[in-house]
Amino acid sequence: MDEIQDEIHEECGVFGVFSQENRNVAHTVYYGLYALQHRGQESAGIAVAFADKITYFKGMGLAADVFSHGALDELPEGDIAIGHVRYSTTGASQLLNAQPVVFTGKCGKMAVAHNGNLINTKQLRQELIRNNAVFQTAIDSEVIAILINSLSDGDIVQGVKRACAKLKGSYALVIMTANKLIAVRDPFGIRPLCLGTTDSDIVVASETCALDAVGANFLRDVKPGEIVIIDDGGVKSEFMDDIPAQARMCIFEYVYFARHDSILDGYSVYEARKEAGKLLAKYYPVEADLVSGVPDSANVAARGYAEVSGVPFVEALAKNRYVGRTFIQPDQRQRENSLNVKMNALRANIRGKRVIIIDDSIVRGTTMRKIVKMLRDAGATEVHVRICSPIIKHPCHLGIDIQTYSQLIGAYRDEEQICKSLGADSVRYLTVEQLLKTCEGAHSGFCLGCFNGEYPYPPEEYETDKLKFE
Ligand code: SF4
Repeated sequence: MDEIQDEIHEECGVFGVFSQENRNVAHTVYYGLYALQHRGQESAGIAVAFADKITYFKGMGLAADVFSHGALDELPEGDIAIGHVRYSTTGASQLLNAQPVVFTGKCGKMAVAHNGNLINTKQLRQELIRNNAVFQTAIDSEVIAILINSLSDGDIVQGVKRACAKLKGSYALVIMTANKLIAVRDPFGIRPLCLGTTDSDIVVASETCALDAVGANFLRDVKPGEIVIIDDGGVKSEFMDDIPAQARMCIFEYVYFARHDSILDGYSVYEARKEAGKLLAKYYPVEADLVSGVPDSANVAARGYAEVSGVPFVEALAKNRYVGRTFIQPDQRQRENSLNVKMNALRANIRGKRVIIIDDSIVRGTTMRKIVKMLRDAGATEVHVRICSPIIKHPCHLGIDIQTYSQLIGAYRDEEQICKSLGADSVRYLTVEQLLKTCEGAHSGFCLGCFNGEYPYPPEEYETDKLKFE
């Protein structure tokens, strides 16, 4: 889904560990963050708790870069640690805004790491400033930390519960004090969060792939509206008041964001993507010599398409493995010319062939337009585009950075017009119903806001006027 890589910015990944032993928990978090790197590449941070102290290190870039040169080894041993990889959805891309946020208040030292995006930050921030709060950063996580503190009366769990009643938007949180690790998922369960165990540790992570990376067994998903408290007394659970009957996890987690070896809310991301390819073959067949995916994320769907259609799966594009996900680079100027560096057409496979190219989604259209041209320049006689999701027609303010209608090729166009704009021979998308079918195995309901405009929160509750059709 390179188009989306070009245009949509993923939110973040969170990880936490509570160990029965005092040991090098920072290393566990590091490997967890490494597995979650696809969720954010701008900055990484780890905070470790031991003996009423929280020590942390944060830096710009990939976890491997931030924690090389000895930074990881300088973090102390401890029994609790949390970590975060970030893409900025609020707050500029700078070290000041990296997470975890570490804060001293009524509950002593605490650290907070957040995946998601609040839609009522301004209002919360103003209320807190009126009560003399001082902010150091522009990020939601600091608002959450200060809100928890202001409502806590010294009891962190009470503070978290009261704060959650005021938060609107998407949030999967890991929170750490000197003696507790707390995991929180918003009432709609918009972002994923799961629990795992090893012989000595309880682990919390955005995705199961991070549990696998640290040798933890999957225990269960954190439920929408659940507050999981892990301390020396074991694992306890509380629930927020007013949890909606229907969970609304972001369906884009299956389409693109999550790693395909993760299991989210009981269903394999790999299965969902393969099923998308199969449905494209079933509903939108076309005569062709080969089918290929935009690497890497659409290859699973392309194999599903090949299986059902009988059209052979052949690699049409080679990816430079040393280039990060294009969309992670926050500076538009940096993104402009990155496609040619990132991938190239495999001429020998394409020349004289009718090509079906599959991608996860199309946002602005810039990348897919270049891919179509790249395939034609390499000798493809026809290029048919098949997309594993519906047309993106609306912005998202729940943690994915599609800010305005004008960013979207599909806001004003139907399939035929998009096809013309991309220079393809045909373009077909899954419908909303078909996309839902690909995720039938999940025990969650879904947010489909960017496809059908139906967000978990009604548009008037968002602190933005960008949800208005322009
Ligand atoms: S609007 Fe789209 S990208 Fe945003 S949370 Fe909903 S499904 Fe995900």
